[in-house]
Amino acid sequence: MDLKSTKGSPVLADRAPINKSRLGIHSSLLPCSQSGQSFSTAVPSIPRKKPGKLDDVCSNGWLDAMKSSSPPRKKVLKDFNFADLVPDDGETAYESWKIRYPSALNSFRTISTRARNRKIVVFLDYDGTLSPIVDDPDRAFISDDMRSAVRSVAEHFPTAIISGRSRDMVFRLVGLTELYYAGSHGMDIIFPGRDIVSRNNVNCVKSTDEEGKEINLFQPAREFLPMIDEVFAKLVETCKDIKGAKVENHKFCASVHYRNVDQENWHIIAQYVHDILKDYPRLRLTHGRKVLEIRPVINWDKGKAVEFLLESLEHGIAGFSNCDDVLPIYIGDDRTDEDAFKVLKKRNCGYGILVSAVTKESNAFFSLKDTSEVQDFLESLVKMAQGDATKNGASRKSSEYDTKKN
Ligand SMILES: [Mg+2]
Repeated sequence: MDLKSTKGSPVLADRAPINKSRLGIHSSLLPCSQSGQSFSTAVPSIPRKKPGKLDDVCSNGWLDAMKSSSPPRKKVLKDFNFADLVPDDGETAYESWKIRYPSALNSFRTISTRARNRKIVVFLDYDGTLSPIVDDPDRAFISDDMRSAVRSVAEHFPTAIISGRSRDMVFRLVGLTELYYAGSHGMDIIFPGRDIVSRNNVNCVKSTDEEGKEINLFQPAREFLPMIDEVFAKLVETCKDIKGAKVENHKFCASVHYRNVDQENWHIIAQYVHDILKDYPRLRLTHGRKVLEIRPVINWDKGKAVEFLLESLEHGIAGFSNCDDVLPIYIGDDRTDEDAFKVLKKRNCGYGILVSAVTKESNAFFSLKDTSEVQDFLESLVKMAQGDATKNGASRKSSEYDTKKN
C-alpha cells in the first residue's frame, strides 16, 4: 500500500516560538511507545488553590456543556411488565428524531445501492461505537464478536479507527493489525510501508515497527508533546483530591473524566482546568462524553484526518474530490465525530452515521442506536461484500465458460 503526498498540512492557529529541543524527534514518536501515563516528578509545582469564583466556568458555558455532554443512561427496571409498555415522551421523540436521522440498518438498501461501483472506506470511532461507554475508561473493552465483525469488514474494505485515545492504547484494545489507526483525535496516524509523504511533509516521519517493517507516522501536533506532558502532570496534581476524577494522557491531548465525580464537584474540576489552561493559550478545551479534553490549537481534527486518509490510502483510492469512485462511511457517537460528519456532509460524499440512543443535533446522515446495531451494520457490510464477490465470481465463471464455448 502506498501513500501519495498530501497537500493538507495543518496550520498552527497560534504559532509561538518553538524551542529547538521540541523540533527533535521525540522518543514517543517511536511506534508502540507508551503514551506517557506516568510523569516526571520534576514538573513545576502547582499552587493549589481553592477554586475561585465560578464566574469563568459558568459564563463561558463549561458547566452547561458538562451537564449536557452525556445523557443519563436508562435505568433497568426490575419486574418490568411488558404489557404496560407504552411509548413515553422520550421514545416518541426518538422515533420522530429518526425521521431526520434514519436508521442505517433500515436504510441499508439505499447504502448498498449507492455503494455500487464505488469503493467503500470505513472509519470507526472506538468508545461508544465499538465498545460500550463504561464508568472506567480503562475497561472499555471491545467484544470478541465486534472484533470479529471489524476484522471481516477490513478484509473487504480499507478500515480505519479514529479515536480520541492514544494510538497505542486503541491498538492494544482493538488488537487488529489489518486496520489503520489514528489516535489523539486524528493527530497521530500510522501508515504501513513505503510512501512518499514523509519526503514532502514535515509532519510525517519514517520509523520501524516492532518487526522492523518500515512505517510512517503523521503527527501534525508533535511539537506539542512536551506541553501536553506538562499540562497532564499539572492536571494529575490538581485533580488528585477530587474523588472519581480520572486524568489521562493521550499523547497529543489530555483528558479529565468526570463520569464518576459527584455532580456537586463538577464546577471544581471545571475551574481547575480553566485555571491551568489560562497559562497555555496554544491549547484549547473540547467537551466529550463526561470528559474534558485539552488539545493543541491546530487546524486538525477527525474531519481532517478523514480527508488525509482518503487522499493517502492506496495511492489515494478516494481521490477525495471524486465522490463518484468512493463511498466513505464514518460511524461515531461523540461531539468530536461531528467534525468528520461535517466533512462528508459538506462534500456530499459518503455517509456519517451517529450512534445515539437519544435525540441530538448532528451532521450525520444516518443513525444507529447502540454498539449492538453498529455490529449488525458492520456484518451487513460484510454480507454485501461477500454477495458482490459471489456475483462477480459467478459472472467471471460465466464469461470464462462463454469464452471457452466460443
Ligand atoms: Mg466515541
